[in-house]
Amino acid sequence: MKKASILLIYTGGTIGMMKDPVDGTLKPYDFSVFMEEVPELRKFALKIDSYTFDPLIDSSDVEPSMWQALAELIRDRYDDYDGFVVLHGTDTMAYSASALSFMLDDLAKPVVFTGSQLPIGVPRTDGKENLISSIEIASSMDAEGHAIVPEVVIYFNSKLMRGNRTTKTSSENFDAFSSPNYPLLGEAGINIRFFPEYIRKPLSWVAPLRINTTLDTRVSILKLHPGMTPDVLKHLLCGKETRAVIIETYGSGNAPTKPWFLDIIREAVAMGKIIVNVTQCLEGAVNMSLYEGGKAMHDAGVTSGYDGTTESTLAKLFFLLGLSKDNEAVRTRMEASLKGEISK
Ligand code: ASP
Repeated sequence: MKKASILLIYTGGTIGMMKDPVDGTLKPYDFSVFMEEVPELRKFALKIDSYTFDPLIDSSDVEPSMWQALAELIRDRYDDYDGFVVLHGTDTMAYSASALSFMLDDLAKPVVFTGSQLPIGVPRTDGKENLISSIEIASSMDAEGHAIVPEVVIYFNSKLMRGNRTTKTSSENFDAFSSPNYPLLGEAGINIRFFPEYIRKPLSWVAPLRINTTLDTRVSILKLHPGMTPDVLKHLLCGKETRAVIIETYGSGNAPTKPWFLDIIREAVAMGKIIVNVTQCLEGAVNMSLYEGGKAMHDAGVTSGYDGTTESTLAKLFFLLGLSKDNEAVRTRMEASLKGEISK
């Protein structure tokens, strides 16, 4: 029987970092570190090939050009592998996994993002378990030979999560990621248990992977806070270069009801800007018909981001703005679920 095969893509991040003896900071190390530190990789009855990005980066330096390169790499190698594991820094992993979920179309194989809080060479590292289980998830198939998780996912600290539902919620715990508004897709204990009722299935198992790599990044994010001034708000919402603004509002999508605030929102909408409302709360959805402040935003032309994360809302805007120059068409598509990123 043919061995399942996995492509391990190394982009950087803490998992492969080592302490620089000169300045004491963590710096990315080349791929050989994994084979040395994780000899268990040789025990898999799998073919594991690797691809290393050059340069390796701390994920704070991730740019959309890296997402484009990742999408192209996965497309080019798609027929050669049963699944893909992407080793990535934790800081922006939720952005990258969200972006890839939109950029890859007709995906029928797993793309598993993982990383770690402690480098793989450190005795108490969480990287080994994250890496080994991610490989197992990426190679898991059902009785018909179909991937069990044909989605872009994040696996971290025993939790398997839809990538575009995930957010980094701890800078120091091993349990660093959460999926606050969507159930886990699986959980690792003695065995890895999958929860198929929550896993997306492709329309076709045999369709070729298509990718969309045109992204328009003219988007900004504004977090509401008491004490905001008209000048600052206007600058952020009505800037010439901005096509869309994500506003992180209070609670279930509330914002100030002051006339100057709503006037500036209306002005931005009249200029054709897309304004998307997501909540600052970790859990729950925007509901713009619950309170006066939310209703006023709705009436001023603001689009609901429902229960999407800020990370996936940003990536979705980059993706949809890249597909179309027509802001009204983008606004309409923002309200629909493209890849399970909102509960709609
Ligand atoms: N700064 C690191 C990164 O995101 C943190 C990590 O990987 O955990 O690349």
